[in-house]
Amino acid sequence: MDFDNANFKTAAQFHGHVCPGLSIGYRVAELAANHFKDRSKDEELVAIVENKSCAVDAIQAINGCTCGKGNLIFKDYGKHVYTYFKRGDKKALRISLKPDVLPQDEKHTSLFAKLRAGTASPEETKEFQASHEAKSQKVLEMPEEELFLIKEVEIEPPEKAIIYPTIICSKCGEGFMEPLGRVRKGKIICLPCFEAKNE
Ligand SMILES: [Zn+2]
Ligand SMILES: [Zn+2]
Repeated sequence: MDFDNANFKTAAQFHGHVCPGLSIGYRVAELAANHFKDRSKDEELVAIVENKSCAVDAIQAINGCTCGKGNLIFKDYGKHVYTYFKRGDKKALRISLKPDVLPQDEKHTSLFAKLRAGTASPEETKEFQASHEAKSQKVLEMPEEELFLIKEVEIEPPEKAIIYPTIICSKCGEGFMEPLGRVRKGKIICLPCFEAKNE
């Protein structure tokens, strides 16, 4: 497998660049797509992702699990764990990245810091890019069982998204979803207005 694979290209285009995180997401997405291929075709695939890294963009691009459609559920756990299921089905596939897949690489990290700070020389920039690409490639080529712990699990399917009425904030005048409102001095306001310090 390489960067020219059609699905990988789609993911890279959506994400904007090739990186190790995208490669991880690509491998997860392909694995899930293959696993659920023959099961209840018309039921929608839902992904629960436990991080908001580059990997999630590959999942959105390839599996069609997106925030807007409500079939991408985000949990802010900072873990490379991805659980897929079909709506209405308790059987889920839990894919978790083995922690030693991308070991801490101090050289890479310090080059990245320099690049971010804008102090990397052209040679250092090149070196970083080469190492970045090599890591991305490595993830694409690793055998599945070395990359992931894969388990079939049972889950309680989350409820479908409920549509709430829109309330107008009495401070900023913008509309917001009813259950997210707050009350200050007897007036209903939106969360950002409630949290704003200057009253
Ligand atoms: Zn990325
Ligand atoms: Zn407001």
